[in-house]
Amino acid sequence: MFKVYFCILKPYYLMQQKIHDKTFDLFIPNEDITAAIRVLAQKIHADYQDETPIFIGVLNGVFMFFGDLLKNYPGPCEVAFTQMSSYAGTSSTGIVYTKMELSKDIKHRHIILVEDIVDTGNTIENLYTYFQETQQPKSIKIATLLLKPDVYKKDFTLHYVGIEIPDKFVVGYGLDYDEMGRNLPDLYQLSSK
Ligand code: 5GP
Repeated sequence: MFKVYFCILKPYYLMQQKIHDKTFDLFIPNEDITAAIRVLAQKIHADYQDETPIFIGVLNGVFMFFGDLLKNYPGPCEVAFTQMSSYAGTSSTGIVYTKMELSKDIKHRHIILVEDIVDTGNTIENLYTYFQETQQPKSIKIATLLLKPDVYKKDFTLHYVGIEIPDKFVVGYGLDYDEMGRNLPDLYQLSSK
């Protein structure tokens, strides 16, 4: 009911986006994303009542989600950022390297790795292993706004998932198509037309 109402009000030019050579259709409006994030923030807070966790954002795609998640997190916390990258041509083997080192000491601290989207899970698994083996945190949990369950086949636990989506390429709300589209407040998916 709400979605029909929303789409009627949404200006026509926001229903589709042309980015580079591709067309994307409106998929999840910002209002629905924000609602899912509020729930996620409360869920995380319930698990860290008496703690001060460090939220670590995995750049670049996470920047919008990270801001909204933290605005809705009601407890004490710290923040830090990291950046990962896959070596060109080897993404299928899941070889990922750290492009930006952490600016904060996370030894003996509870950390929450915050991702925009988990697809195969290679990035987050590599990041988890890297922090676990080199930084000696007290605990590590993972929060992701989006998950593609049809693609994700790992046993590796994702502790906090905002929205499950089908296996279709999405842009907006921080996510890019060839560096464009990150500033769109809504989420769009690749048009099948
Ligand atoms: P994974 O390592 O889980 O296969 O992929 C995670 C990374 O792939 C994400 O951090 C993101 O950069 C990219 N990615 C996966 N699916 C999508 C998508 O649908 N849209 C965009 N823009 N990036 C994606």
